[in-house]
Amino acid sequence: MSPCRAASGLLQSVLMDRSWINTRLFSKAHLDGVSEFMKFVFERFDENAEILCPCRKCLNQVCLDKGHVEDHLYIHGMASTYTRWINHGEPLEGIITENRSHSDEQLGFNDDVGLNQDVEDA
Ligand SMILES: [Zn+2]
Repeated sequence: MSPCRAASGLLQSVLMDRSWINTRLFSKAHLDGVSEFMKFVFERFDENAEILCPCRKCLNQVCLDKGHVEDHLYIHGMASTYTRWINHGEPLEGIITENRSHSDEQLGFNDDVGLNQDVEDA
């Protein structure tokens, strides 16, 4: 049983302003964006939870604890492919109108990310 989760659902609800994803690393916008994202991650996931790292290097393929994910987001930046996913789930007025309930499962899994490991069992 993997505790690993994709944070993409979070990202969709968190990022009202996701322009920071394409800003230069270590620019204020980038730092603030990462900080904002991590704040939500820390609120939603357990202390020791691991999530799929959405940085440009890991591209949601690598499971890391939150501290490392944070590091990666600072160092590598958020994968810009995220903007596409987000656009496609767009209806974000104010943050978190969670029509997608507060449950972890709903938040954790988005699209195919995170489900790959279980597919072969069928
Ligand atoms: Zn990473």
